[in-house]
Amino acid sequence: MADIYTVRCRSCGASVTYDAGRERLKCSYCGAEAAIADLGAPITEVDLEAALQQAEARREVIEGHQVRTCRSCGAAIAYQEARAKCDFCGAEAVEVARLEQQPVRPQGVLPFRVTPDSAKAAFQRWLKSLWFAPSDLAQRSRIDDLRGVYLPCWTFDAQVYAEWRAVPGYHRTRTERYYDASTQSWKTRTTTYVEWGPPVTGQHRDFFDDLLVSALRSLPTRYLDDVGGFATPTDLRPYEPAYFLGWDVALPDKPLREAWTEGYRRITELTEAACKRAIPGDTYKDFHMRLHLSGLTTKLVYVPVYILAYRYGQKPYRVVIHGRSGVVGGDRPISWLKVVLLVLLIGAGIGALVYWLNLKSL
Ligand SMILES: [Zn+2]
Ligand SMILES: [Zn+2]
Repeated sequence: MADIYTVRCRSCGASVTYDAGRERLKCSYCGAEAAIADLGAPITEVDLEAALQQAEARREVIEGHQVRTCRSCGAAIAYQEARAKCDFCGAEAVEVARLEQQPVRPQGVLPFRVTPDSAKAAFQRWLKSLWFAPSDLAQRSRIDDLRGVYLPCWTFDAQVYAEWRAVPGYHRTRTERYYDASTQSWKTRTTTYVEWGPPVTGQHRDFFDDLLVSALRSLPTRYLDDVGGFATPTDLRPYEPAYFLGWDVALPDKPLREAWTEGYRRITELTEAACKRAIPGDTYKDFHMRLHLSGLTTKLVYVPVYILAYRYGQKPYRVVIHGRSGVVGGDRPISWLKVVLLVLLIGAGIGALVYWLNLKSL
């Protein structure tokens, strides 16, 4: 069952949009503002096992959006306005989608706080700071293509208990005498070696609160980490479609099962790293860990980013700006010409220095 969500201005009846700077709804015609009360249902975590079994979820259409898919990267985005270019890869290959079903209704949303103007300023500062960026990058990545997009993410909560064992090693040095045949004399030298200690065991307890995994196959999770992650445990609001008015919304295309495989791998890696930090000594061998997870829950949330996608030498690049902190991250194309020039300059500098030292020693 799909509901259609619509909001009209109370003063004039025109359509309203969500204003990031004011964090309120604003009429695009008369400027009247309205607060977004937290009307949505309280944010609920869903038991992971139950969610994996669940076949149908509530779906919803947001008025004024048209879903278009990209033939190049496969992204499906509910666009605020008709557009030829894909938000995610910059390809001019978007077409109106015929969705089999409407997107799943999320449990929570992190609303935009950074305005489009602030995002543009942040992007320009970032561009200036990149010495290695190709000089024509500024022209290629047209700043007008910067888009505010809500990205869907799966969150995972997990209670972690891990048991580990390992053999710690300690770096030691010893001094030994040896006979140097070339000088026909006895000499001493210092060698280093590893002394293996008795096996040690330990336990590690942890709680993962809202581990975020991108729900988009076309935008890997590392882009979310790259802008510093999102404070969903503290800042998430109950889902209220009003936050989407006036903004692009990417539709999830990564099933929960696939996202959980990724989440489980991440939890395992982070727990392993924490356990390894607790091993005494300078090195270790024969590390084994047994991981127990409990209290697994999940939910679908939307987080705000500005994306600027452009193509450089046939490859798509994406600059991502955090929609609440303004932190810039993503792909940094490197100008190899500039790198080569720098290496040559350093080489020339060393050459000059050697030449100068030689002159002095004459
Ligand atoms: Zn109005
Ligand atoms: Zn695309």
